[in-house]
Amino acid sequence: MLTCNYLGRFAPSPTGALHAGSLATALGSWLHARAHNGKWLLRIEDLDLPRCIPGADKMIIQQLMACGLEWDGDIEYQSKRTAFYQSALNELINSQKSFACRCTRKQIEDALLSLGHKKQRHEELMYPGTCRDKKDIVEPCAWRLRVDDEDLRKTVGDFVLRRADGIFTYQLAVVVDDALQGITHIVRGADLLDNTPRQIYLQKQLGYKQPQYLHLPLVLDENNEKLSKQTLAKAIHTDSPENCLKALQAAAKHLGLNDERLYQENASRVSKWLEIAIENYRAILKSE
Ligand code: GLU
Repeated sequence: MLTCNYLGRFAPSPTGALHAGSLATALGSWLHARAHNGKWLLRIEDLDLPRCIPGADKMIIQQLMACGLEWDGDIEYQSKRTAFYQSALNELINSQKSFACRCTRKQIEDALLSLGHKKQRHEELMYPGTCRDKKDIVEPCAWRLRVDDEDLRKTVGDFVLRRADGIFTYQLAVVVDDALQGITHIVRGADLLDNTPRQIYLQKQLGYKQPQYLHLPLVLDENNEKLSKQTLAKAIHTDSPENCLKALQAAAKHLGLNDERLYQENASRVSKWLEIAIENYRAILKSE
C-alpha cells in the first residue's frame, strides 16, 4: 500500500472506452492529485462482469497513457480482490450488521405499494426491511446492510452488499478498496453524489477512515443527458498527440481551467500541456 498525505484514484468500470465525460473526470481527479503533489492510482472496477466489455480496460489504459495521465503503483482489478470484499462482509455478518435477504424485485415493489408508496420511474427501490429480523439463511440469498440512519432509511433502506448471484456490489467494493488502498481523496463525477452517503455510512460500520470527496460537474449531451454508453457517447480519439490535446482541451474547458496557453491552436506537447494545467489548477485552488 502506498502511503502519503494525498492518495487519489480513478476507478473506471470497463464498460467502454473513455468518452468526453469520463476523460473530464480522469483529468479532474489527476489534476487534483498532482496539484497537491499527491499520488494517483488506477483501479478497474470490473465486478459486474455481464456489464463489462472485453478489452475495454486495455482501451482505457491506452487512452490514459496517450493523454499523459499516468498513475502510480500497479493497476488493481476488482475482480481479483473478492477475498477482501468477502472478509469485510463476514465482519458485518458476524456483528449482525448484515442480514440475508431472498426478496425479489417484485416482492419489494409489492411491499412498497402496500405501504402506500407510489411507484415512480427510474426510482431506486427503497428496501422496506422485510427480511431484517429473519433468522434463517437460505442460499442463494443477497446480503444487505442494516441501515439505521434515518435519511438513508427513507431513501435507499438496507442496501445490498452482495447480490444473490454472488456478485459483490459497487457500494461494498468501492468502500473496501478505497480504505485498503489508503485513498485520502475521492474526486469523481456528480452522478455518484447520491452514493456518497451510503458509502460514508458503510465506512463507519467497518471502522474505516472517511476520505474527502469532491464531485465534478458532468459533461452533458445536447439532450442534457449525462454522456454514457447508454446515450452512445463517442470514445475520445487518442491516436495522435493532436487528438489527445483536443480531447484534453475540451476536458479542461469543462473543468473551468482558464490559462489561455492551454487552448492555443498548436498547444505544445501533451506533457508540457499537463504541466501548465497543473499550474493553472493550483492557482484556481489557491484562489478558492
Ligand atoms: N466505477 C465507477 C464508475 O465508473 C466509479 C466509481 C467511483 O469513482 O467511486 O462509474
